[in-house]
This record gives sequence, structure tokens and C-alpha cells, in this order.
Amino acid sequence: MIRVTVWNEYLHEKCDAPVAEIYPNGMHNTIADFLRCDDIQVRTATLEEPECGLTQEVLAETDVLIWWGHGAHARVPDEIAQRVRDEVLKGMGFIALHSSHLCKPFKLLMGTSCNLGWREDGDRERIWTVNPAHPIAKGIGPYFELPHVETYAEPFGIPNPDEVVFIGWYEGGEVFRSGCTFQREKGRIFYFQPGHELFPIYHDKNVQTVIRNAVYWATPQVRAEKNECWHLTKLEK
Ligand code: ZN
Repeated sequence: MIRVTVWNEYLHEKCDAPVAEIYPNGMHNTIADFLRCDDIQVRTATLEEPECGLTQEVLAETDVLIWWGHGAHARVPDEIAQRVRDEVLKGMGFIALHSSHLCKPFKLLMGTSCNLGWREDGDRERIWTVNPAHPIAKGIGPYFELPHVETYAEPFGIPNPDEVVFIGWYEGGEVFRSGCTFQREKGRIFYFQPGHELFPIYHDKNVQTVIRNAVYWATPQVRAEKNECWHLTKLEK
């Protein structure tokens, strides 16, 4: 059983009526609902819960943490962000969605600005599969389209990804590395660009397939209890 925690800052849905209409129970619950199945169990956590819902115990019981944040990155205490980073280094999977490119744990794991170009014109996006053999692209054809997205454009201030799985192309001609993987020590990380709150993107079947695939892919191969140096013993003659 893979244990997933979906974290959402959960503010837009409470104060923006158009967002509440698309996600009446919050994006985290929409994502949790499509992921839940025989081999994936899901819990949710949000910003306004104590410790952002991410206590050490919750993280210890999380195989893959999914993160959606936007306007309140700064309200996540540094201590929580570091706690998430440390769990990833020990093996926990981490999936950063959309505007989470600027969330504290992702930036800590990348070590770069993670800045990008953006505009909000509701463009159509065609998301090209550039690595069809990658497990995260399973079931996705050569491309899929989303009728309305927020445009995210290069340059994307990330370190060179281990793998680029998807490249997004927008009506305005911009391109973006929309699906990228990274490994940091034992933990696998996937960044996925679609997910602007004003469009029903997490109701899209292809988007759901990608996120589900990413959960399987990011599930820990090993999970260390502690991250520490190994004291070695010299080989006997
Ligand atoms: Zn957005």
C-alpha cells in the first residue's frame, strides 16, 4: 500500500468563489479522490492545520507527498519546509504541482530560484510527451491538450533535471519544461506544471493519469530512518 499525503495551502477555495465552484471541497480532496484505489491510501493536510498538518509522525507515514501552494508560500514555517526536505533526502517522494515551483521545500531541494515566465490569458496548452518510455508518461499519447491554463514559460530557474518527461507549448508560442524529474539523495521528485486554480485542471483525465503515474514512480525505493554519515570499518586482510 502506497501512503500518499496531499498538501494544499487551501486558501483560494475558501475566498475565491470561482475556485470554490471548481473545487468545492478543495483541490487536495479532488486529488485525493482520484488517487484513492486498492494500492494507494491518501490523507490530506493543509496550511492552517497545526504544523501545516505535516508533523514528523505524518511525514514518517508518508511515502509520497504532493504539494500545491501559491500565494502563501511564506506562511509555511522554515522548520516545516526543512522537515519535508529532510524526509525527501531519506527517501520520501515529492510531487510539486503548478505554482509550487516557488514553495519552500521545492526551492530547498533545488537550491536555485525556480523562477519562470508567466502570463494569465487562459491559453490552450499542448503538453508533449518527450520521453514516452518514462513510467510517468504511461498511458499518455504523443501529447494531450488543456483548453485553458496559466502560461508558464522558460527560462525555468531549476537545476538541469534528471529527465524531462513533458514539454508544454502554448498558443502564444512559449514553451516550458512541464514535467521534470529529479533525485535528491534517496528521494524522487517530480515537478508538474498544470494546475492553475481557476481552471478545472485536476478534473482532467490525462492530468490525473500523470499524477497517479508520478505517485507510483516516486514511491521510495529505500527509506532511511536517519540521514547520517556511515562510520566504516577497514576491510580485513
Ligand atoms: Zn496559477
